[in-house]
Amino acid sequence: MSEGSRPHVLVTGGAGYIGSHTAVALHEAGFCPVLLDNLDNASIEAVSGVREICQEDLPFHQIDVRDGASLDKLFSDLYAQGTPLQGILHFAAHKAVGESVAQPARYASNNVGGLAVLLETAAKHGVNNVVFSSSCTVYGEPSQVPVSESAPFQTAESPYGWTKQACERVLTDHAQSLAGAHVALLRYFNPIGAHPSAIIGELPLGVPNNLIPYLTQTASGIRQKLTVFGNDYPTPDGTCVRDYLHVMDLAEAHVAALKWCKTQASTSSVVRAFNLGTGQGASVLEVIQTFERVTGQQVAHEIGGRRAGDVVAIWADPSRAQKELAWSTQRDLATSLQDAWRWQEKLGR
Ligand code: NAD
Ligand code: UDP
Repeated sequence: MSEGSRPHVLVTGGAGYIGSHTAVALHEAGFCPVLLDNLDNASIEAVSGVREICQEDLPFHQIDVRDGASLDKLFSDLYAQGTPLQGILHFAAHKAVGESVAQPARYASNNVGGLAVLLETAAKHGVNNVVFSSSCTVYGEPSQVPVSESAPFQTAESPYGWTKQACERVLTDHAQSLAGAHVALLRYFNPIGAHPSAIIGELPLGVPNNLIPYLTQTASGIRQKLTVFGNDYPTPDGTCVRDYLHVMDLAEAHVAALKWCKTQASTSSVVRAFNLGTGQGASVLEVIQTFERVTGQQVAHEIGGRRAGDVVAIWADPSRAQKELAWSTQRDLATSLQDAWRWQEKLGR
């Protein structure tokens, strides 16, 4: 199918970790992803990687999502060339919890302000389908696991967490104000891994905060030792439990959510939250052991103190996404860790 005959969808943050993998999944599903990124936390090589995997010169625009004039022009140009946008997948945001504590206004401006500009532009151009990157961080420490979408929000632990709660509220109000708005709020659990080709993956800048990039960098010798943040939690082995899902499973969930938006009645407005996870929890020590087993690599690690603000144990009840989006994860933890390692090996030391 030529680019022109495919439904075009905007992927903000399309050069980033999850956006780039989703662009590949969208292309596979017959969409033309229009990538937009200001390259604040990404490299142009990710765009080349997506193009290489898709074997197509997909459109990329270096635009800041807060730049309303440039957005407006992009939407108009796509309309004028006969490929109006059919939907938006909004990934563009800052995502580092610690940084958000130091720079709360920057986070509010980019994450909440960026969404506001995007929604105003979308409404002006009649683009009503929006898929939003939210996070299980909105739940804080849940009183019950697995956590379902009806679990109450806790007071946000960080300015980053607050931006996700605030964006969900802005999107809910937006949907209520606009006839025919269809909004999917996707609450991700812990995305890990990389495209199996190892052409695209996660590119953490500096010292990683997240477990998997720290672990793979330790295995490859970039870091000396992984510190396990606490082993005195009330969990089976004392370490924290999370729900790790493969980034390609997450990418495919976005395709399912976009299709869900497109099948909603054109006159009714709807906003729906979906948990995206495997439904299984894994502890930090289980992750290390699984990684060592499937890759044959040793991970030097030691037990350290707890990290401030860590949730003890959280995993998803993904049954709503299974039922309403016909989506569930297809790759297990071992596969996700193998793909994460393949990507790290490609990056090298
Ligand atoms: P990422 O940093 O790799 O990707 C985000 C991309 O958005 C980057 O390429 C960055 O350059 C771009 N960007 C940021 N601000 C922009 C702006 N104003 N205009 C244009 N582009 C801008 O992050 P990711 O891991 O791919 O996360 C994508 C989304 O998913 C984010 O909204 C994040 O908060 C959310 N999320 C991520 C995780 C995770 O563990 N990675 C978990 C839950 C939710
Ligand atoms: N973690 C760890 N050592 C690290 C990084 C993370 O023990 O160097 C733990 C962390 O305490 C948490 C789990 O790994 O229990 C996942 O952490 P990550 O930052 O990847 O995700 P999040 O805490 O946001 O769910």
